[in-house]
Amino acid sequence: VVISLVAVHQIRRLLVPLAQLKRGADEVSRQQFTPIAIESQDELEDVGHAFNNMTRRISRQFQLLDSLAELDRQILSAENMTDIASLAWTRLHSAIQGDSLLIAFLENPYHPTLHIFQGSVHQAGPDHSAVELGEDRVTKIQNWLHLSPLTKSQAPAGLGNFVDTLGESPHFTAVSFLLDSRWCGFVAVGHEQEILNSEDSRALLQGLAERLAVSLSVQLKSQTLYQQANFDKLTGLPNEFFLRQQLSQLIKSRESTRSGDTNLAVLYLDLDNFQQVNDSLGHPVGDKLLIEVGLRLKSSLDSSVTIARQGGDEFIIAIPEVRDQAQLEETINRILGLFQEPVRVEPHHIYVGASLGVARYPQDAQDLDHLFMNADTALYVAKKRGKVSYCLYDSSFNQLALERMQLENALWKSIEHNELMFHFQPLVNTHSGLIGFEALIRWLHPERGMLSPVLFTPIIEDTGFIIELNRWMFRNLFAQFSHWLRQDQLPLDKLAINISPVQLLLPDFIPEFSGALEAFRIPAEMIELEITESVLLDNIYQAEEQLVALRELGVSLALDDFGTGYSSLSYLQKLPFDRVKIDRSFVSSIKEKLPPPPLVLTILSMAAGMGLKCTAEGIEEKHQFRLLRALGCEVLQGYYISRPLPADQCAQFIRQYELPPEDVRVRP
Ligand code: C2E
Ligand code: CA
Ligand code: CA
Repeated sequence: VVISLVAVHQIRRLLVPLAQLKRGADEVSRQQFTPIAIESQDELEDVGHAFNNMTRRISRQFQLLDSLAELDRQILSAENMTDIASLAWTRLHSAIQGDSLLIAFLENPYHPTLHIFQGSVHQAGPDHSAVELGEDRVTKIQNWLHLSPLTKSQAPAGLGNFVDTLGESPHFTAVSFLLDSRWCGFVAVGHEQEILNSEDSRALLQGLAERLAVSLSVQLKSQTLYQQANFDKLTGLPNEFFLRQQLSQLIKSRESTRSGDTNLAVLYLDLDNFQQVNDSLGHPVGDKLLIEVGLRLKSSLDSSVTIARQGGDEFIIAIPEVRDQAQLEETINRILGLFQEPVRVEPHHIYVGASLGVARYPQDAQDLDHLFMNADTALYVAKKRGKVSYCLYDSSFNQLALERMQLENALWKSIEHNELMFHFQPLVNTHSGLIGFEALIRWLHPERGMLSPVLFTPIIEDTGFIIELNRWMFRNLFAQFSHWLRQDQLPLDKLAINISPVQLLLPDFIPEFSGALEAFRIPAEMIELEITESVLLDNIYQAEEQLVALRELGVSLALDDFGTGYSSLSYLQKLPFDRVKIDRSFVSSIKEKLPPPPLVLTILSMAAGMGLKCTAEGIEEKHQFRLLRALGCEVLQGYYISRPLPADQCAQFIRQYELPPEDVRVRP
């Protein structure tokens, strides 16, 4: 009996702790962690303690993983980095073994604002502060954080109030995080002892740092996407998309609150001659000019006004609150006034003009699409009117714009439909008679009949069609001229061709031109290119180069409509012209039985003084012909000699033309 009792007692002494251990192990597998109590005062009690230690650690690790997983879920739904950091702090501060938790991150890797969330583990939420750090301070902090252990009193000097934001604890354990291999921030635990004796807290810091790096990169990516979608890269100004959204919200909110009338205005601004700056001074200067213009607009306009860049040299300005017409005009004049001063892009001082098109809501348009469209139309009209001007939208513009668009569309097809052609107006040398023709372009529009170039050449210049036209025109003209020279054996010396400055400045202009000359074996000396004075002056820098190159080919150059912009004579002296064409307006001022107008005499003697030959155009009457001939004008042209002729009538005209005998009675 005694032996049995002793055996049972001994067996129970073993079995009870074993059962407790088994129960504890089962609970661990169900993630429940209640310590077991074995009080056997022998080795089994030691096993029990070891078991409890192990489950405590496992339990903490499970808790840690849970907290981090929970954090992961919340990070996904958080709006921005400060939310994420404050959330992370709140979730994790009680899980660490230390005195305080600190989360710090840069707003973005290229922006030196450091946000810090810090507080004692007994606080409910973190304190938030932000410190501005320069690039050098960021590097200092980064290097300091590499040390282990970290002691606050040994922080490097010159970090400003950064050290104060670290809290009370004398020692720290920190983990930095990087983005695109740039330092972006760190997480740290503050503690009393020099060394943080907790593997778990280190693991937690590591996990936290990894998560913050990921969140920061996600936030930045979406910020970048937002930036790209809404802002112009060059000037940093909002783009049209942003502006439209802003205005549409504004209109919606005003309508919903019915806060009186919504009067707003949209201004399209386009720089004059920006292309010229780009071409003559280079794109980097052009870019800087655009940035400067953006800054100038911004600094001189009310902060409620939004300035957006639409691309190229176009800006859109939105005035959200237009009280009355006077206020609008005051703003417009202020904007135009900005362009009276040169823009400094060292070492240049650039005078750049601007045109403005203005449309108002709701007067001029019922919705945003029309508002923007109408402002653009008004800009087009302003540009046509001339430099540094503005134009308020008028409902009649749309009809114009529509017609223009229809013409433009039809123009693109005009070449393949054989609707474009040249008429030729004879040129008469006052000594030798008929010497050649000026080619004048015509468009036989399918519905509107024969159209004058005055109607459609301005449209050509604004579109890419000019490139196509440029190619077509030389081949067409030289084929005709070659036919007259070789098949018809006509005694021709000269073919004058009108070139717009835009055309002259096409990159392919010279290759196309000289290629066609060669292909049709036309001597360059027979070709005269006519360029209109007024438009030429706007593009004088680049034009000069092209003109010199053309002269070297052997062609001669005539300045068309001479006298209509004669303020610019000094410029002209520098350009390689051979001839001036006296504008029709001077010729028509020559009246029978009256002394010759002094201006005509001045122009003729000035041209002679500059070594230039003269052509007088627009001669409609006999006395004009006679007088100009007597005054020594070399070549004459006008209805009096002949209207421009279709190509098939030219040969006959040449064969029958006779120069009238010189009239000795005409004495200037
Ligand atoms: P422009 O170069 O000054 O051409 C002379 C214009 O005056 C022509 O008008 C011609 O028909 C007209 N004209 C000629 N003699 C007389 C006259 O005695 N009295 C009157 N009242 N008019 C006369 P058109 O053909 O309508 O051309 C107008 C302008 O269009 C031209 O002015 C020229 O600047 C431009 N143009 C014509 N053809 C071309 C071309 O192929 N390319 C370019 N870029 N422009 C062209
Ligand atoms: Ca001409
Ligand atoms: Ca002319």
